[in-house]
Amino acid sequence: MAYYRGLVAPTSQPASAGVKKQEVSLYQFFAPGGVLSRTHPAYEFRRGQLQMAQAVEQALEEKRHLIVEAGTGTGKTLAYLVPVIRSGKRVIISTGTKNLQEQLFHKDIPFLEQALFPDGEGSLNVCYMKGRNNYLCRKKLYDLTGQPVLSGLEEIEHYRAIAAWEKTTQTGDRAELAELPEASALWHKIDARSDACIGQKCSSWDKCFITEMHRRAMESDIIIVNHHLFFADLSIKQQAEYAPDAGILPEVGAVIFDEAHELEDVAGSYFGVSVSNGRVEELCRDVEASLQRSHMLSAAISGALKSLRERSMFFFALLPQGEGRFSFENRREFLEENGDEFTALHHSLRRLDSELQNLPSKPEEVFNFARRAQELQVQFSFLMESEDPNTVFWIERRRGGRDKFNVYLQATPIDVAPILKTCLFDKLECAVLTSATLAVGGGFEYMRRRLGLEHTRESVLPSHFDYENQALFYVPPDLPDPRTPQFAAKAADRIRQLLEITRGRAFVLFTSYAQMNDVYQRLLGELDFPMLLQGDAPKSALLEEFRLTPNAVLFATSSFWQGVDVQGEQLSCVIIDRLPFAVPSDPVVAARVKSIDAEGGNAFFQYQVPAAVITLKQGFGRLIRSLHDRGLLVLLDNRILKKQYGRVFVESLPDYRKTTELEVVEKWFGAEAEERDHGA
Ligand code: SF4
Repeated sequence: MAYYRGLVAPTSQPASAGVKKQEVSLYQFFAPGGVLSRTHPAYEFRRGQLQMAQAVEQALEEKRHLIVEAGTGTGKTLAYLVPVIRSGKRVIISTGTKNLQEQLFHKDIPFLEQALFPDGEGSLNVCYMKGRNNYLCRKKLYDLTGQPVLSGLEEIEHYRAIAAWEKTTQTGDRAELAELPEASALWHKIDARSDACIGQKCSSWDKCFITEMHRRAMESDIIIVNHHLFFADLSIKQQAEYAPDAGILPEVGAVIFDEAHELEDVAGSYFGVSVSNGRVEELCRDVEASLQRSHMLSAAISGALKSLRERSMFFFALLPQGEGRFSFENRREFLEENGDEFTALHHSLRRLDSELQNLPSKPEEVFNFARRAQELQVQFSFLMESEDPNTVFWIERRRGGRDKFNVYLQATPIDVAPILKTCLFDKLECAVLTSATLAVGGGFEYMRRRLGLEHTRESVLPSHFDYENQALFYVPPDLPDPRTPQFAAKAADRIRQLLEITRGRAFVLFTSYAQMNDVYQRLLGELDFPMLLQGDAPKSALLEEFRLTPNAVLFATSSFWQGVDVQGEQLSCVIIDRLPFAVPSDPVVAARVKSIDAEGGNAFFQYQVPAAVITLKQGFGRLIRSLHDRGLLVLLDNRILKKQYGRVFVESLPDYRKTTELEVVEKWFGAEAEERDHGA
């Protein structure tokens, strides 16, 4: 699999073939009888696609930002790629999922190259970049050679496979190594994460896969990344005050954010601060391994490491107890009581830092370890002492094995809008934000406010699907409120009735694991259809099984609400248990709610309802994936009918046919069965 295509240009400027705009207009490309109709095997004229392409082209020309909601079936990737190619600008395309990155790189762009340059008279330079931890660090691999640090036969086998592959790979991307398990512990020790990278001072710098990726990006017209890589890079640039060599992504004329509904969450995590007991331990391990290798592990450094490990263990054990994510509001009181332990941890980091600095004729990576120890000191101080009013401080504690906990101290911006405005939108000539789910009640006020977007062009495109005839939306008016204890039993009963009508072929999606497990247990043995449960196998394996198993029913939670595509009859019904409001006790959600209310706003209507609308649209979006799909959508939560805010949800959903009658559902599927019988 190649991660770069096209001729390498001699300069760092993009080598776009720049399709001349006067040769083919967007209309001539997308309209019936146009280039697309002659080249695409499944061509259909899509009005929304042409409108979107025109809007993107205008935004690129006028150097304006654009936010555009384009439902499933619009063909939005071609709608932004064609104007991007015509613009001749270097452009980053950032996506939320790997699937979309792969579709762009392996399918859409090669198709357009063929369609636009049939005689091979032009080409595009395109690169596909992943996060650094997907690539091999040659230095770490070479350092491991001959070291007795591999544990177990499996690691030795993996090492041999990686060492052989390193000699032939062009990219260093672990995706090429199919035999390497996802959770390989060895890979974690030799990937190219920036933590241990010593940059230009590295002896492998010239043939480093990251250096190579950077060079390719500089020579590319189109750079495909994901939101995590994009915001990681942006936060590095921000910290380095936009120094010219900071970060890995080059300057571009525009950024297209596809699946842009995820931006707030991803940006929040990269503009925040996080330290953990695991991160301290990783530093200790790296120092130890490196100095052992170079025979420089002195008694003083061993002592500093021992002290740091102990201090870290004490400090993290003293943090407020609890599992999952919870707020850490009482940091001041905590410090009053445990200030000595915090100071001791700080001192031990400083001690390690100075012992490392004092090492005579030290290898280059030691400077990097010292920098990491300093970074930890600064970040611990911020996390424990900062009074920044736009930051929420919280703790996440997760079980990491027997009697072991991974504890994270976190700081997240409450409002990323001002940060994104200054770091991103004010600096970029043109940003295009698109997704099937951005608008609430037909407008973008919510997204604009959450992301700090001002003066944008906006567009909600007409759908390509005939939702009224393709989807029936059923809400049972008689079920109890989902917040009551009676709900689960009644909901399970109704799900059983519905699945009998649809003959399985359904996703039953829940807002919590507890509810999923409860309903699954109630229905176990009650259904005549194969039941699949999230957690019983990896997500991709479950989806494959669902696709291949006639009449299967999949019980799942949030990770199946988006980025899942099952076309055809196999998925004929999507049932959602309740309106997907974010958990109000989640520390980040709670801080955002509090902040909006404190500023005189109404957090429920300005934040909680719109966020839930976007999630519900995502969940229901699993059903109709093509013009030929037809099926049933069910929301078991009738607050959508009974509460005043329910109107916002109804107005934001596509124009499904709606019913509250089970008989109508039966008829809908009766008609389908008849059609099938006639067809047979
Ligand atoms: S430059 Fe950094 S990532 Fe590349 S080989 Fe050297 S240490 Fe590894």
